[in-house]
Parts: sequence; C-alpha cells; structure tokens
Amino acid sequence: MSDCIFCKIANKEMGKLIYEDDQVVAFEDLSPQAPVHVLVIPKKHIARISDVTDGEDACLMGHIMVIANKIAAERGIAEEGYRIVTNCNEGAGQSVWHVHFHLLGGRKLGWPPG
Ligand code: 5GP
Ligand code: ZN
Repeated sequence: MSDCIFCKIANKEMGKLIYEDDQVVAFEDLSPQAPVHVLVIPKKHIARISDVTDGEDACLMGHIMVIANKIAAERGIAEEGYRIVTNCNEGAGQSVWHVHFHLLGGRKLGWPPG
C-alpha cells in the first residue's frame, strides 16, 4: 500500500531494517518502551491481526513468531523473558494499520498491561 508507513519501511524506502527475509522484516520501534523494542512485520500489507485468514496468512504469522524468538535470543533476553504483543484496533492501542508484533524485553514487564 503506497500510503502505509510500514510498507515503506519494508520496501526500504525509509528507516533501517535489522532483519529481512522473503516474507518478514524487523526494525527498531521509533519510540522504544523497553530496552529491547523491535517490531516484526509481514511484508504483505495486512491492516490488523483480525484480518488474518487461515492458510497462507496463518503460516506467515507463525513464521513471524519464529523470527521474533530468534531476535529475542540474539538480543540476550530469551532467558529472562520477553513479550510478543499485537494491538488490534484503536481500543487496544493500534495506531499503525499494517499488522505488527512488538517484541519487548530487557526490563521487568508488568501484567496486566494498561
Ligand atoms: P501500535 O500502537 O500500532 O501497536 O504500534 C505502533 C508502533 O509503531 C509504535 O510503538 C510506534 O512507536 C511505532 N512507529 C510508528 N511510526 C513509526 C516509524 O515511522 N518508524 C518506526 N520505526 N516505528 C514507528
Ligand atoms: Zn502496509
């Protein structure tokens, strides 16, 4: 989608990627909420997690989890613990309309979230 900021990042028109493969990219969050705050997104434009369909999209979401786990291990937060979270729609805090998973760690994370 031409007016989507995360499509632009995925297409390398802006920002800096820390990970890329044929399906997924990852990059640092602009406004980090923890010492590790990476966003992992599909290259495919999907507006929100509730738009994910069974089959290809479901596989893609699983692949994103594998990549997030890999980045957590690389950043040294796998043992202590980390959180992978996606916000769906405004009430949950979604502000960018291209599905993304926050990988958060490096500090004690409270529960329940606010
Ligand atoms: P949401 O609020 O939709 O769950 O998360 C959107 C996230 O994207 C926020 O944590 C915000 O800081 C991050 N973000 C918004 N615009 C940009 C951007 O242009 N570059 C990067 N790297 N992160 C962004
Ligand atoms: Zn997009």
